[in-house]
Amino acid sequence: LNEILIRGLLPLDEYNQTLAGNTHPPDWTNPRPRGRYNLVVVGAGTAGLVAASGAAQLGARVALIEKSLLGGDCLNWGCVPSKAIIRCARAADDTRNLAQFGIRATGETIVDFAAVMERMRRLRSAISFHDSAKRFADMGVDVFLGEARFNSPQSIQVGGTELIFSKALIATGAKAVVPGIDGLAEAGYQTNETIFSLTDLPARLAVIGGGPLGCELAQAFRRLGSEVVIFHRPAHLLEREDEDAARIIQARFVEEGIRLLLNTSPRKVARTGGGKLIHYAGESGEETILVDKILVGAGRAPNVDGLDLESAGVEYDVRSGVKVDDHLRTANPRIYAAGDVCLPYKFTHMAEATAKIALRNSLFSGRARLSDLAIPWVTYTDPEIAHVGMSEREAEEKGIAVDTFVKPLAQVDRAVLDGETEGFAKIHVRRGSGRIAGATIVSRHAGEMITEITLALARGLALNTLSDIIHPYPTQAEAIKGAADLYNRSRLGPRLQKILSFWMALKRSAAVFALGEYMNRAKAALKKSLRGWKKRGD
Ligand SMILES: Cc1cc2nc3c(=O)[nH]c(=O)nc-3n(C[C@H](O)[C@H](O)[C@H](O)COP(=O)(O)OP(=O)(O)OC[C@H]3O[C@@H](n4cnc5c(N)ncnc54)[C@H](O)[C@@H]3O)c2cc1C
Repeated sequence: LNEILIRGLLPLDEYNQTLAGNTHPPDWTNPRPRGRYNLVVVGAGTAGLVAASGAAQLGARVALIEKSLLGGDCLNWGCVPSKAIIRCARAADDTRNLAQFGIRATGETIVDFAAVMERMRRLRSAISFHDSAKRFADMGVDVFLGEARFNSPQSIQVGGTELIFSKALIATGAKAVVPGIDGLAEAGYQTNETIFSLTDLPARLAVIGGGPLGCELAQAFRRLGSEVVIFHRPAHLLEREDEDAARIIQARFVEEGIRLLLNTSPRKVARTGGGKLIHYAGESGEETILVDKILVGAGRAPNVDGLDLESAGVEYDVRSGVKVDDHLRTANPRIYAAGDVCLPYKFTHMAEATAKIALRNSLFSGRARLSDLAIPWVTYTDPEIAHVGMSEREAEEKGIAVDTFVKPLAQVDRAVLDGETEGFAKIHVRRGSGRIAGATIVSRHAGEMITEITLALARGLALNTLSDIIHPYPTQAEAIKGAADLYNRSRLGPRLQKILSFWMALKRSAAVFALGEYMNRAKAALKKSLRGWKKRGD
């Protein structure tokens, strides 16, 4: 294990040793190459692992190359550790807010940060078995530990060994972008690769970047007890999310005591005896703030360096990554890409979905398309923001006319009973057809709720379909049905309403009522004589 590995795997306790033992066994010997491979996969994050296991199960000869830990960002330095500590932060927040439920807990809520982090390491190491080198070798995948570099359009090098391939998949992921702030490197900072190694809670934490990663971790650390300040260059947090959704999170952050420094970013950082002094342009000129740790969450850059993509004839851009077509094929028709290295949607589920597309298209000449996917994502703040498809802004940019239906959680019984009324289900439909175009849900459980809309969107359903589906009562998912009901009501229109009112009035009138009664009696008499006739016939 090299220095970087150890830096991202501190403390080297039993859990991290298990993690390393699974995902980068220190005593691992690379196999001898077995001639030409059907598929060589570069990078063993989610995309690489999904592709390698899928190909091996389909009988392909597969090689998988990983320079660091199998499992990539998601397992080691991303989703898994962040969601583990977010769970603890939620528990701490719930404990502080018990009074609203009529429960009085005596004494102060004390967060044992070391225990929170140990729990995370324990759970992460337990999960790591699924991504272990041995498990993949047992599946029939040739696992090579080392840095990969293309030699030619059909061969790749790892630790002095050349692998020849029919097809290759680039799945090298992305890394934190570190902004060029004067003195930041000297003062020291955390990224997602080091923050999960902390064992002491930073008393004062500055987060650079108010995007999903920055917001999730800022709220978690605040709830665990840190004083937190977020620097964000735009005027609002989470500017890529629905504006109403982002506004709710921003207000919640202020309520929870997170300091927001918007429209600005650090200009200079200096290490002082008492911490790190950040200089920034404030409202009254140059201002400073003293913190103990700085977390950089200012975007992700694709891992394209060091691969010698030029030798392979693969085109790329240092910002947007490997260039692929809708079938995820690169400029070299033998080579495909999947996951963070080529996508603007940097999510684990997208790494998985694109690995499956690339696998189908590369090994079976498939025609699966990236553009066919309905793409959901979730920002795991509290409340969560879940989104799928188009936003109103995006629809407008594309010239697509949409109508929007919003059900506030304050009107959903379960949310009221849970004391979780902050949020809404907002669904956009294409004007005319009523087909779902996109949606945003803000709720404590938004991530669990969005899949229903994703399914409807992926299958081209109109919103009224969701109104016909029975939603168990009381659940917060009834907000989705509520938005669908609003859509149905909007379809009535004044003319149809007039016709219906006329019809109902007609049904109430004495003459029509008497006629109806007469018809019912006549129908009953006819049925009776028919039954009698049938019996005699028998
Ligand atoms: C803090 C944080 C929280 C996140 N939370 C979520 C979440 O809740 N939900 C979600 O969907 N997504 C989340 N993400 C994003 C998610 O982690 C990524 O989208 C996902 O891991 C991408 O998978 P990947 O396979 O494309 O790349 P990676 O997981 O980055 O894997 C790429 C692998 O390639 C290896 N590699 C790179 N270059 C070479 C080379 N030359 N030779 C050999 N190997 C190489 C790397 O070492 C790495 O292991 C989070 C990310 C972060 C940072």
